[in-house]
Amino acid sequence: AAKDQGKNRFMTFENRMHEQLLNRLDQESRLREAVQRGELRLHLQPVAAIPDGRMSGAEALVRWQDPERGLQMPGSFIPLAEETGMIIDIDRWILMEACRTVRKWQGENPETAPAWVSVNLSAAHLDLPDLTDHVAYALATTGLSPHCLVLELTETVMMRDVAVTSARLQELRELGVKIAIDDFGTGYSSLGYLRDIPVDVLKIDRSFITGLVGNGRQQELVSAIVQLGHTLGLRVVAEGVEDADQLALLSVMGCKFAQGYYLGRPEAADQLYARTALLAAPVEITQ
Ligand code: C2E
Ligand code: MG
Ligand code: MG
Ligand code: MG
Repeated sequence: AAKDQGKNRFMTFENRMHEQLLNRLDQESRLREAVQRGELRLHLQPVAAIPDGRMSGAEALVRWQDPERGLQMPGSFIPLAEETGMIIDIDRWILMEACRTVRKWQGENPETAPAWVSVNLSAAHLDLPDLTDHVAYALATTGLSPHCLVLELTETVMMRDVAVTSARLQELRELGVKIAIDDFGTGYSSLGYLRDIPVDVLKIDRSFITGLVGNGRQQELVSAIVQLGHTLGLRVVAEGVEDADQLALLSVMGCKFAQGYYLGRPEAADQLYARTALLAAPVEITQ
């Protein structure tokens, strides 16, 4: 009986492995089809100027409108997309769609349109030799000015090979495109890369903004990051601003840009477009 049990356990384990594999293959083919069938959606989240709260630019964030499961957030499919290389197609779709949408908006309603749009790039994408050509192609096709495009990379991605990254980013900057360090402060960052890698924008990670109120030490840290960024001539954006008190503190620190639920959640571009009259209204600063 003991032997049978052992065998059963083994079978169960094997079945489970098999099931996981099938599940993964199923997910993979569903994601592949999603890209082909046009189930990806562009969402935009405003980046507001401090202190007036007006939308300055916007970040492009991908969503998957799954006909079976509803709207899927990037956390549920980006990891698989990165493992399988599908992230390149996803990034390229978002890049084109973001440039097209913002260019159209700027043409129709320059008063309310975001002055720039930022797009996230994955590590695999940075490694492609034709990245610069592709970005140039997206700009040429849509007519968006290169100065209106920001490419976001995390510091972990940038630091894999500083020499290669610097060369690639310099190429992109020569197009007139700006480069942002995303989630600043969360990677194993040596500040040395700020000297070697050409960037224009520094986005302070949300984890530094959460718990900012009432934590003097954290405030000193964020204030120092803002000053560091400004000293280096960078535009500094605070991510994950969720309330008026956080915004007020950032304003006192001299931070000029904020992104977060308090200033606007990511939403479909046409929804954001429809709401811009409201967004253009100043956000009240309490301090
Ligand atoms: P990220 O680039 O750092 O984007 C900011 C994330 O923070 C977004 O999550 C946004 O919805 C969320 N967020 C913004 N404000 C707040 C806030 O006040 N509170 C909280 N709790 N969260 C806030 P989302 O859309 O789920 O995207 C997650 C990550 O997925 C992004 O982080 C980015 O790394 C990645 N991602 C999204 N779209 C793309 C894409 O097109 N390509 C690539 N390669 N990655 C993408
Ligand atoms: Mg980002
Ligand atoms: Mg970020
Ligand atoms: Mg992030």
